[in-house]
Amino acid sequence: MSVRAGREFLAIPGPTTVPDEVLRAMHRPAVDIYSGPLLALTDGLLRDVARVFKTSGRAYIYISNGHGAWEAALTNVLSRGDKILVLESGRFALGWGENARRMGVEVEILKGDMRRAVRPAEVEARLKADKGGTIKAVLVAQIDTASGVVNDVAAIGEAMRAAGHDALLMVDAVASLGCMPFEMDAWRVDVAMSGSQKGLMAPPGLGFVAANDRAREIHKKADLRTPYWDWTDREGDIHYQKYAGTPPEHLLFGLRQALDMLFEEGLENVFRRHRLLAEAVRRAIGIWGEGQAISFNIIEPQERCDTVTAVLMNGGRDPEALRAYCNEKCGVILGHGIGELSGKAFRVAHMGHVNAPMILGTLSVIEMALNALDVPHGRGGAQAAIDWLGEQVKA
Ligand SMILES: *Cc1c(COP(=O)(O)O)cnc(C)c1O
Repeated sequence: MSVRAGREFLAIPGPTTVPDEVLRAMHRPAVDIYSGPLLALTDGLLRDVARVFKTSGRAYIYISNGHGAWEAALTNVLSRGDKILVLESGRFALGWGENARRMGVEVEILKGDMRRAVRPAEVEARLKADKGGTIKAVLVAQIDTASGVVNDVAAIGEAMRAAGHDALLMVDAVASLGCMPFEMDAWRVDVAMSGSQKGLMAPPGLGFVAANDRAREIHKKADLRTPYWDWTDREGDIHYQKYAGTPPEHLLFGLRQALDMLFEEGLENVFRRHRLLAEAVRRAIGIWGEGQAISFNIIEPQERCDTVTAVLMNGGRDPEALRAYCNEKCGVILGHGIGELSGKAFRVAHMGHVNAPMILGTLSVIEMALNALDVPHGRGGAQAAIDWLGEQVKA
């Protein structure tokens, strides 16, 4: 027996649910790439992508996923033999750093672990010790999607200034942009990157990079630049060159619609919706955890992010059985554990086009699975989420 008929719900941390309005915006014929409305569409999108990053710097749109945007960010500002510092707090900054290493960059990792955020004081101490200024850039993920941690990018920027160090601050905002505050200029982030398929509610396939003047100055001497990613090539007036070739028209139509929806809701409201729904998830997990069989991966409550929650299954219990139940019986697809958490955790995404029924439904299905699989858990997790949301969202 199953109760999975109808629309399945994708609760993985990307790609996320694409709104029907975005799907519809893409269902149209191709248009001219040399003249007509597409040119104004590009200008508007470049402006609005920068607006979402909160920067007066420049934005670039690539036909790529997040991995491509990683490469775009690195190749435009680094040179062979440069040294960078990667701040560990899960999997993703390490992955970005590994890409840099394979391009001939020397990579040092500021040790962290899967269960906590980057400590800004450790960044400050390491940079203070770098007397000769050999470190050219610091890489960090605002939210690490594997661990479910949120890093305090503003505090890391402060730590770099306190150390009197002028390395570039480069931030991966793939799992956070459009879901929580990101203040590129105010936090003095030099280069930031993201992708279309998470908080930005568009299909996978677009990568975004934003750069401030300092980064664009350093770019002039970067020797890792390649034709496709190169910022300078994309900055001219010729529309075709802004994408280094044919623009990804339909993805751009979809992105336009998705950004319009975000601006219409209001970014502050979007962030608040994410905070409320994330806390609903945490309330439920907090109750279930009383049974000792499951627990939060991120130990400190204030370091748990508002877009994805990684849940450990203790005592050798198999998270795949729980994921299979949710998927096969109920049509809810949860994320699996990745990296060190592979086979030990499941992840619940709460990012992008999500609302109360999606999240409360997901929590209820997880609770069904905990019951059906005899996983010891505190009773009433979904109820705790309902109670808390009801208190926050007044009549
Ligand atoms: C998803 C993700 C990436 C990689 O994005 P892809 O589009 O899968 O290449 C990078 N960083 C973070 C933090 C992510 O969540």
